[in-house]
Amino acid sequence: MKAFVQCLLTAAIAVVALLPLAAAPDATRVLLISVDGLMPSSYTDPGLAARTPNLRRLAQEGVWADGVVGVTPTVTYPSHTTLITGVEPARHGIYDNRILDPENRSNGAWYWYARAIQVQTLPGAVRGRGLTAAGVTWPVSIGMDLDFNAPEYMGTSRHPEGVQLLRGLSTPRTLFDAAELARGTPFGWPQTDRDRTDLTSFILRTYAPNLTMLHLIELDSAQHTYGPGSPEALEAMALMDRYVGELVEAARKAPGGEKTTVAIVSDHGFLPLTTQFQPNAALKDAGLIDVSASGAMTGWRAWSHSAGGSAYVYVKDAADRPRVAALLETLRKDPANGIRTVWTAEDLAKAGGHPDAQFGIDMADGFYAANAHDTLRKPSTSKAAMASRRTARRCTRRSSSSARP
Ligand SMILES: [Zn+2]
Repeated sequence: MKAFVQCLLTAAIAVVALLPLAAAPDATRVLLISVDGLMPSSYTDPGLAARTPNLRRLAQEGVWADGVVGVTPTVTYPSHTTLITGVEPARHGIYDNRILDPENRSNGAWYWYARAIQVQTLPGAVRGRGLTAAGVTWPVSIGMDLDFNAPEYMGTSRHPEGVQLLRGLSTPRTLFDAAELARGTPFGWPQTDRDRTDLTSFILRTYAPNLTMLHLIELDSAQHTYGPGSPEALEAMALMDRYVGELVEAARKAPGGEKTTVAIVSDHGFLPLTTQFQPNAALKDAGLIDVSASGAMTGWRAWSHSAGGSAYVYVKDAADRPRVAALLETLRKDPANGIRTVWTAEDLAKAGGHPDAQFGIDMADGFYAANAHDTLRKPSTSKAAMASRRTARRCTRRSSSSARP
């Protein structure tokens, strides 16, 4: 379990600017913005100061952290669900971004639907007290009990019609129409963070919910495609900062919003990549995955499901477990595969990981676990992956003259 607490690139961050809460509960306003893939360097690195004035101001006015302890696996959907439930994936039920579907009968489905969350959520608690809650592109929010909801759904194509489904999934059904009227231009598809910010700003100004949650994703996309620290990622970081500034302003100008509590959070960090490791190729060679002549998977007895910097291994029949354990150990011993640690089911249980996984694979820096089974290793197809491990850097500091970002 040591790997879980090894100090490494921060997996997630939190900047919190606290203002005094209003005395009356119904006057409480909280704006929770998740900037996907945001790392603490965005507000601690002096070299980035010109790009992130709003994040830095919030950090200086409030409380901030230079790292957090991530969940297992430290990827978008499990992390976001932990943010609003306070429990590990094993308890909240969002075990990964994508559902377990080795045969891919779901066309790569993610955990889109809130009914998969097995415990009470923050917006649920807010609503339970008679207060109002809103979500914009919050992960796992289709069908979530929210007063105002534009859920996260990426759809299956880039066709402009994609936005129509999102309109139909939103609460109230007229949410997009009303926000379009207010901003004067229609929403396109795929959605952009500009769209998400405008939608959230509209909700804040018009409805002033007690809790407003927003998920911004373009910094994550830029880091996957171009790598952390790339010019494109830095440009996206500056854009996120600008949106944060706009939204804080909108929240404070909203009815009763002068004393809004603002929390800026994230879900994981990024590490640069060189190599893609595909454990399913080894499972196929061992006869544990069946493949047709065309290369399509037709059956499996053991399957590795990637979560970026780590993977879960599922074994259908307990009798195959020792064989899979031996195979993973052999793979681990070859440094070319980039396996830092093989986790047992007991390790995963302690870490709050997927209860049905029999093993976990923790990848070394520079390596990424993928689902394909064509070959064991190949050059990485993206520039960076989520740092899917825990970090020991959990130092939280109050802003002071000696510890300011
Ligand atoms: Zn993410």
